[in-house]
Amino acid sequence: MTHADRAVVIGSGMGGLLAARALSETYAEVVVVDRDLIPEGSAARKGVPQGRQLHVLLARGREAFDTLFPGMSTELARLGSPLVDLQHQVHWYNDGHRMRRAPSPLLAFGISRPLLEHTVRARVAALPGVRLVSGCEVLGLTATPDSRRVTGVRVLPRGETAESVIDADMVVDAGGRASRSPIWLEELGYARAPEERVQVDLTYVTRVYKREPHHLDGLLGALTNAVPGLPRGGIVAVQEDDRLGVALSGVLGEEPPTDDEGMVRYAETLAAPQIAEIVRSAVPVSAPAKMRFPASVRRRYERLRRFPGGYLVTADALCGFNPVYGQGMTVAALEALLLRRLIASGTDDLARRFFRGAARLIDAPWSISVGTDLRFPEVEGRRSMTVRLVNAYVGMLHAAAVTDPALGAAFIRVLNLIDPPARLMAPATVFRVLRGTLGRRSPLPMPAWRRPRPRG
Ligand SMILES: Cc1cc2nc3c(=O)[nH]c(=O)nc-3n(C[C@H](O)[C@H](O)[C@H](O)COP(=O)(O)OP(=O)(O)OC[C@H]3O[C@@H](n4cnc5c(N)ncnc54)[C@H](O)[C@@H]3O)c2cc1C
Repeated sequence: MTHADRAVVIGSGMGGLLAARALSETYAEVVVVDRDLIPEGSAARKGVPQGRQLHVLLARGREAFDTLFPGMSTELARLGSPLVDLQHQVHWYNDGHRMRRAPSPLLAFGISRPLLEHTVRARVAALPGVRLVSGCEVLGLTATPDSRRVTGVRVLPRGETAESVIDADMVVDAGGRASRSPIWLEELGYARAPEERVQVDLTYVTRVYKREPHHLDGLLGALTNAVPGLPRGGIVAVQEDDRLGVALSGVLGEEPPTDDEGMVRYAETLAAPQIAEIVRSAVPVSAPAKMRFPASVRRRYERLRRFPGGYLVTADALCGFNPVYGQGMTVAALEALLLRRLIASGTDDLARRFFRGAARLIDAPWSISVGTDLRFPEVEGRRSMTVRLVNAYVGMLHAAAVTDPALGAAFIRVLNLIDPPARLMAPATVFRVLRGTLGRRSPLPMPAWRRPRPRG
């Protein structure tokens, strides 16, 4: 086999593994290079620090994973990871309003990030032609003399002093948020992609607990979001082996503590009382892990007039979302599906086609994440009239969803990227929101975080 059949993926995080899956249908050889020594089993690792933080895979992501890896849901169930009915088995508190539960077809895995990555990695490693090279840092790109085409990567394997080159027809950067593509492309004479940045100064603290049947009143999750005036959020999600992952979060510099007592006090300020109950009474099986996430960053490669052939950028390297909306892995999977579809019809003009398609699929999650963050007056960014109206309307929807499960379902579908955000404005939904709020005889239900909380 010659290198004419080879693709190289930089990074074996979730984005790199999913891209490798897509490339494996077209390229005889796919080499996935990671600077980390990849663990044998399901374990967190240095190159993916967010692996210690609670991850949820959206319902749309589950569908995409099942398309890329047939039977994945069944395999994860066998590994002890339950399927969760997102509307029926989760306590939702949106802006402090308790959403009414109802059975739904909206299903997500309850799984830890290391086990999900390990399972995907095993599937990818078993694909014909795929090779995972760990402990190998990518230092830069090689290109044709006129720099119009990337021809491979320069690498430094761990323990060696001399760099070497892996030739390739296609190189995909899935190096994560700290992607070096802007610098590498500049070295080849290309302009930097315009960057959109929304500063949120988010801090996560995740801890895993042993799950008892009585926890969460027998349900499988609970969550509440940060709101202006209370920049704190929290989520509990079931994981494999009867565990509960708990993430406490704070935006705009608000930081959850990591000591037992402090975590309980922090959780007690949240609208969802179930979160404090777990932190207070469940048996921890991990130490608390803290991580900061300064800003959402979107790199607009689709706006560049010149871009080399044989090179793409995907997943967090293309767009890193505020993680509280749980979108990153789902968008990475949708980009992998896009890549698979595009290369099936040839690689001509691939970068332009890929970045345009990716921009279209990023638009919705980006508008959800940034639009919601802009509710905080401290977050810098343009607040168009549409953003203000949508935020006000979604606030009304949350209040009405306390009694109307159809509105809860509509919201969960959009949040899970099953439906586009515009679907919330469907006439029937608007009618229900107005009926549930304006037409009420009694006042709107008060959000739980504003209600006085009994002490003791
Ligand atoms: C706190 C937090 C919570 C999150 N929660 C969720 C969630 O609930 N749901 C969700 O869908 N997403 C979540 N995300 C986002 C999600 O983790 C990512 O979107 C997803 O993992 C895709 O990341 P990636 O593969 O692009 O990058 P990464 O996971 O960062 O992987 C990059 C890989 O590239 C390797 N690498 C980088 N540079 C080089 C180089 N030069 N040479 C060799 N190797 C290199 C690294 O070692 C690493 O393995 C969260 C993120 C954070 C920070």
